[in-house]
Amino acid sequence: MPSRSPAQSRKQRPAPPRGPNRRPASFLPMTRAEMETLGWDRCDVVLISGDAYVDHPAFGVALLGRLLERHGWRVGVIAQPGWQDSADFQALGRPRLCFGVTAGNVDSRIANLSAGKQRRRRDDFSPGGRAGLRPDRASIVYANRAREAYPGVPIVLGGLEASLRRLAHYDDWDDRVRRSLLLDARADILVYGMGERPLVEIVARLAAADPAPADLSGIRGTVTAVGAGEAPANAVQLPRYDEVASDPTRYLEAHRLCERELAPGDGRPLAQPHGDRVVVQWPPAPPLPQAELDALYELPFRRTWHPRYDAEGGVPALETVRTSITAHRGCCGDCAFCAITAHQGRIVQSRSEGSILAEIRRVAGQPDFKGTITDIGGPTANLYGARCKRWDRGRFCHDRGCLLPERCPHLELGYDAAIRLYRQAARIPGVKHVFLGSGLRFDLLTTDRDRRYLEQIAAHQVSGLLKVAPEHCDDRVLALMNKPRFAVYEEFLRRFRAASRKAGKQQYVVNYFIASHPGSSLRETLKLALYLAKRRIKPEQIQDFIPAPMTRAACMYHTGVDPATGRRVHVPRSLKERRLQRALLQYDRPANRKLLEAALAELDALHVLPKFLAAAGSRPRLDKSPRGPVPGGAPRLAKAKTAKRLPARRARGPRGRA
Ligand code: SF4
Ligand code: SF4
Repeated sequence: MPSRSPAQSRKQRPAPPRGPNRRPASFLPMTRAEMETLGWDRCDVVLISGDAYVDHPAFGVALLGRLLERHGWRVGVIAQPGWQDSADFQALGRPRLCFGVTAGNVDSRIANLSAGKQRRRRDDFSPGGRAGLRPDRASIVYANRAREAYPGVPIVLGGLEASLRRLAHYDDWDDRVRRSLLLDARADILVYGMGERPLVEIVARLAAADPAPADLSGIRGTVTAVGAGEAPANAVQLPRYDEVASDPTRYLEAHRLCERELAPGDGRPLAQPHGDRVVVQWPPAPPLPQAELDALYELPFRRTWHPRYDAEGGVPALETVRTSITAHRGCCGDCAFCAITAHQGRIVQSRSEGSILAEIRRVAGQPDFKGTITDIGGPTANLYGARCKRWDRGRFCHDRGCLLPERCPHLELGYDAAIRLYRQAARIPGVKHVFLGSGLRFDLLTTDRDRRYLEQIAAHQVSGLLKVAPEHCDDRVLALMNKPRFAVYEEFLRRFRAASRKAGKQQYVVNYFIASHPGSSLRETLKLALYLAKRRIKPEQIQDFIPAPMTRAACMYHTGVDPATGRRVHVPRSLKERRLQRALLQYDRPANRKLLEAALAELDALHVLPKFLAAAGSRPRLDKSPRGPVPGGAPRLAKAKTAKRLPARRARGPRGRA
């Protein structure tokens, strides 16, 4: 396949042809009978997904399927097919242009296995929450079965799993470096990042060339494979797969080179030889202009699951987003463990106020709407409307962060626009509450400039529980996570307490912590556990670290070196240490008692056991006065409510933890 630069490709690109379908389908068809009702003899594109089909913009297949439909293509969906043979993959017949294959909103490693690699008993993206409907390494399995069903049909990989595994990557499932998913799945092309523009261009090129094979090289936001010597001349050469697989130093080098090319405005192609093939990552797709982003949310979603799931009570993941609104995408937080930077990018793209309000009106008009908008958010709720002039050119700084070590003076927060938006949303007929369910970046709420926004949300947007993610209390661990110093979090608590007091409300903070992050040994974890015990905080939200491919933290986990500084870091790798760390943080659970003692014995710190036992036996500290929130986890008596309001984060798909 000849390679072309993106610039050449733009010049030569034919105008996208339009298919015959004009009227949107009620639901994208999942059966031949539904296709016949629409008058289709075949689909142009069949999307295969590891998730149940929910026709809601928070679900990737619905969003991209409806977008392709808007471009005139006939799109069908095969959701959670049986993978023992190819029968389910033939359900809609041979697609005219391609199969689009995704593991679903979540990487199948995360969807199927816990941090300790125990099989999960529930999958919120499946009907009735049933586990076991999505294979391990779903992208590879589905691609193989689709190829078996209809040999020769081009296969386009996409979604989070493909995006984070686009080049050679550390995979904690196998505890080794794996090849690019493109090659393992033997797909024709892989879409990374937010896939709207790349997918539309791929389908347009396939249609323009049909029935001949299309040249799919040079499309921004994609990865293709070429023969030796065919990579573009301006590509940055990454160390070969066999080198990164066997030598952590070369892995580290590849990671640093990849991080440097993540900006759409100045990112160059990357070329990584895998045997006699070269995997080429074309530069990232530019952020969608606001009008294009707005248009996505005006597509004719039914905002519910396909009727085939009614008998099983529907798809639980919808409940977390049914009345929530995606206001923006991307995050400039750049936390080391978070996949958002590698997937959605560092540039924040926000929808217009008018588009968001129009969507809220549609939600409020639904017969089952109870009056609460549960979220107007994105990866980080308070980055709505954030801007930087560099972002307008698709660029960002490579030598400093937007938020750390200090908030960049060039970062313009969108607090005025957000306040106006929340207030207008609350005035829409039928809307009683407008809450923020997404996490907040608390370091952006610690100056007097932020006070007006903090007072607004403390008074109106907090449903009694505010989600924040200090992640740890040890500054060295926080630095490795690329999170703010702990004193910043404490300053935020002080200000949130004051804002809640001013609003006359008793409100609580729900903290998220990570156990076993690279750099966190038992000693740092004990420090955090003592902090929690002293304040009688019994955290519910502990996440055991899982190295998400392509993240900085995964690089640390694999190499034992911080790529930012080159310094060695401790990596809690053994199951034993990971269990001890969790037991320290969940010291109040009777089932953890032996592990707690073992951890303290290992640290020669058994003398502090009484502190934990006293805290465990105590009632969580409750500040019932309207003076302010408890600085820590929600009290036990609010647990049931909390669990309902804060469903498992993995159900939130691509949103971050802020
Ligand atoms: S100028 Fe500041 S806000 Fe803009 S990209 Fe650079 S660090 Fe981020
Ligand atoms: S964890 Fe939150 S703040 Fe950090 S990069 Fe992810 S979304 Fe952004």
